[in-house]
Amino acid sequence: MRTAANAAEIYVSSVNGLAETGEIINIDGNCNRVASIFYGHEKVYLVVGVNKIAKDYDSALWRARNIAAPQNARRFGVKTPCAVNADRCYDCKSPERICRGLSVLWGKPMTGEFEVILIHENLGY
Ligand code: SF4
Repeated sequence: MRTAANAAEIYVSSVNGLAETGEIINIDGNCNRVASIFYGHEKVYLVVGVNKIAKDYDSALWRARNIAAPQNARRFGVKTPCAVNADRCYDCKSPERICRGLSVLWGKPMTGEFEVILIHENLGY
């Protein structure tokens, strides 16, 4: 499935944090998602609920690490401290750590089309 998604002409994803200053942040475990957002598709759609928006880069990174990742960890049912305590990131060294890669888009990559679709409701983590 991941290989097929990586080869798709169109790729659709959300993000973990979108800064009002323009940076787009994602954290990934397998890193297939961050890799696919960066390169390899004719068009990438990023669908973003208002809950993902933060005022600047530091706030968007904080959100990705302390809100999105812990909630994803709980969804996966791993036994990381963030999932057990349901509060924040502990920058754990757990073998079940879901945060293995961090991506920041400072701007549109030179190849491919990108479209960010803002949705005026809370969507996902
Ligand atoms: S680094 Fe560990 S504690 Fe932090 S969000 Fe990721 S899995 Fe949770």
